[in-house]
Amino acid sequence: MSSKPDASRPRAADTKKVHIADTQMTRQNWYKHVNWLNVTFIIGIPIAGCIQAFWVPLQLKTAIWAVIYYFFTGLGITAGYHRLWAHCSYSATLPLRIWLALVGGGAVEGSIRWWARDHRAHHRYTDTDKDPYSVRKGLLYSHLGWMVMKQNPKRIGRTDITDLNEDPVVVWQHRNYIKVVLTMGLIVPMLVSGLGWGDWYGGFVYAGILRIFFVQQATFCVNSLAHWLGDQPFDDRNSPRDHIITALVTLGEGYHNFHHEFPSDYRNAIEWHQYDPTKWTIWTCKQLGLAYDLKQFRSNEIEKGRVQQLQKKIDQKRAKLDWGTPLDQLPVMEWDDYVEQTKNGRGLISIAGVVHDVTDFIKDHPGGKAMIKSGLGKDATAMFNGGVYYHSNGAHNLLSTMRVGVIRGGGEVEIWKRAQKENSEYVRDETGQRIIRAGQQVTKMPEPIPTADAA
Ligand SMILES: [Zn+2]
Ligand SMILES: [Zn+2]
Repeated sequence: MSSKPDASRPRAADTKKVHIADTQMTRQNWYKHVNWLNVTFIIGIPIAGCIQAFWVPLQLKTAIWAVIYYFFTGLGITAGYHRLWAHCSYSATLPLRIWLALVGGGAVEGSIRWWARDHRAHHRYTDTDKDPYSVRKGLLYSHLGWMVMKQNPKRIGRTDITDLNEDPVVVWQHRNYIKVVLTMGLIVPMLVSGLGWGDWYGGFVYAGILRIFFVQQATFCVNSLAHWLGDQPFDDRNSPRDHIITALVTLGEGYHNFHHEFPSDYRNAIEWHQYDPTKWTIWTCKQLGLAYDLKQFRSNEIEKGRVQQLQKKIDQKRAKLDWGTPLDQLPVMEWDDYVEQTKNGRGLISIAGVVHDVTDFIKDHPGGKAMIKSGLGKDATAMFNGGVYYHSNGAHNLLSTMRVGVIRGGGEVEIWKRAQKENSEYVRDETGQRIIRAGQQVTKMPEPIPTADAA
């Protein structure tokens, strides 16, 4: 996205020298670290434009033209540089390729060849040191810093651009880049408003310089904001995010989490109500016969990604909850010992072979103190499962947090075995947490028990 693509690239003879970017920045050498050409193009000229805007009046026609040209040149980057050339997400006829190479050049963000090469490295090595604009180095770095400061081009990850070298439009634009920039960046916007309504200077300042500034900043937001602000509905292992604000600023490139997962999809927004004018443009070009072979991921694959990410979020939530001590970690109690302890005043209740300490819960029992007390020191499995009251799923969940032991011996052996079997058959999530679904608690009997002989 600098205006001179290979400015910082070493010549063959220089390759053995230590690159300035790999040396410590000091008070003496800091200016050598700065890429002054880029500073001029992305900071100096816009400031000059802002200053001139103070005495150049903005005419309505020029303002409208500047906005229209903003969209043309911005779409040159998003529909052309990005989705067509960097990602090959559709094919374009020669006239469309020429148009996109021209208006894309008018955005002053480097040649297609240079831009797409770095962008492919960004996708391949996202968030690593080989990512040319990694957000891990700071938001400002991913927005501007990577262009303002010199970078060692050898650090940036390798990518294959043989397909781009075979596209005559790309090669022509790269060779004639400065001419394209001057013509499409400044001369054309000035000519239109000059010949159209006599506003030469306004066309130069507003549709030229300041429009370039806004298009550049918008694109830089894809590298910074889209890796920093928003949700991660498809994968959260890397930094790309989805956000409507980024989409509004970048002609629809703000659904960046989706884009990094499915980069060869010509869409960034997959819902009809989401803002993606780049997608609408490509689709319209298809209707006009200018674009074809629009690539789209199957919604089955997209939904899989979404479900997996949801699952991960659910696992994280589940891990924070108290599900009670796992059965296999509970101490084993003799039946007689269990009965003995309740006689001594401890509020123990055995349900499905699991002993629960409900001492502190007796006073809060929704069915009353008397009811719960009647089960203490007994096998209350049937009482709890419908014999007296058919307890809710919530009650089983709460009960599980009060577990203190497992009964051995007597009629409870079978229940204990069943509990053990269930325990070994619990589904576990990827972090090893047991997944206990509603109605699957060990204290829960499959069917309500109608008669209350346990009481
Ligand atoms: Zn990205
Ligand atoms: Zn991309």
